[in-house]
Amino acid sequence: MRAKLLIQPVGFNDRGTLYWLVGELKRRLPVEVDVMLSLWPINLDHLEVFDWSRMQFKAVKVNELLHRLFKEVLMPRRSLILGLVAGDGYVEGLNFVFGLAMPELSTATVYTSRLETGDRQLYHLRILKEVMHELGHLLGLGHCPNRRCVMSFSNSVSEVDLKEPWFCPVCVSKLKSVTSA
Ligand SMILES: [Zn+2]
Ligand SMILES: [Zn+2]
Repeated sequence: MRAKLLIQPVGFNDRGTLYWLVGELKRRLPVEVDVMLSLWPINLDHLEVFDWSRMQFKAVKVNELLHRLFKEVLMPRRSLILGLVAGDGYVEGLNFVFGLAMPELSTATVYTSRLETGDRQLYHLRILKEVMHELGHLLGLGHCPNRRCVMSFSNSVSEVDLKEPWFCPVCVSKLKSVTSA
């Protein structure tokens, strides 16, 4: 049974970017994944998942909430949820995260505010890389020492820009062996 991925915008209303993202993911994923797009742009910033003193989303709580909303109620087994969140996120002990994958919940999120720039093409590319990175974690990959690989860990936007929107050959073969198991 092939994996299904639902992209869920959270306060992210730019449909053009979302359609582009889905097309790119289909082209770049080395394994078969059905990518579905939800066009219900939910807003979560009034809930307990937002820290009003830091003006940041609590990334663990957002993942848990998306898991509760979709995985347990709406989505079939073997489906993955990826929330694209217009805002900034953090986890305890870190100032911010670009994204957070919780494979045990089959749920991940990517936070777009630190990826923003006047260059629209660059902004899109950054979102694509971070979505591919978190999806790689959901599919069982860890961080990759290859700085060009999309699975390399990024601590800053310049590190995001340094990596390519592709999985390196080592990560591709890992992905293939995990997803065919
Ligand atoms: Zn990572
Ligand atoms: Zn790699």
